[in-house]
Amino acid sequence: MKPIIGITSNVEFDLKHSLVNDYIQAVINAGGIPIIIPVGIDSDVSQIVEKIDGLVLSGGGDIDPTLFGEEPHQKLGAISPGRDSLEIALIHRFLEANKPVLAICRGIQILSIATGGDMFQDIYSQSNLELLQHSQNATRYHFSHYVKVESNSLLADIAGQTEFKVNSFHHQAVRNVVKPLVVTARASDGVIEAIESSEHNFVLGLQWHPEPLALNEDHISKAIFQRFVQACNQ
Ligand code: MN
Repeated sequence: MKPIIGITSNVEFDLKHSLVNDYIQAVINAGGIPIIIPVGIDSDVSQIVEKIDGLVLSGGGDIDPTLFGEEPHQKLGAISPGRDSLEIALIHRFLEANKPVLAICRGIQILSIATGGDMFQDIYSQSNLELLQHSQNATRYHFSHYVKVESNSLLADIAGQTEFKVNSFHHQAVRNVVKPLVVTARASDGVIEAIESSEHNFVLGLQWHPEPLALNEDHISKAIFQRFVQACNQ
């Protein structure tokens, strides 16, 4: 039996759901059956979690800073409160059930928020670091900057190496994480690029987008989806 993988979707001002096909195809290629999870079903997430084997938190817009006790910064982009609340509810239930979570781009940030961490609303105006360009002006499958990975991490185990290049399409980033989440990769400027759980079987957050890279035959990105889908099968 193939595992069923729920993928959260974007919703633009509560009007229209959308999801880039790369997420769907990357899950199919890795041996999973993807289904798209809509917003508006927060009270039913327990039932969803029983029915599906893994969760992909997909990329998208910004996150409501009220969720981590801040007011909106000038550089905050479009937010989707309904999406935020659904994803936080899903994360809580998935962690309780110890079922696999792969959190991509916006997903790594909502994973941090849902577990009590926080984030930069806009790294360029809020971080003291000398920053790289994290909003690359290139195709989705271009490798933009390096990440350095902690050697005893799930991500290093999957990648088989501790330094490699990734793409980068973000102006927000995780700031502080709370246990059981730990930081397992950073860009050379110090920006957090991967987090994972030290207590769960497979909870991995990535600030970059492995899905277009996987479809472009990048072996590390393919391995990320394959290991995730394998974990969903256990
Ligand atoms: Mn980046």
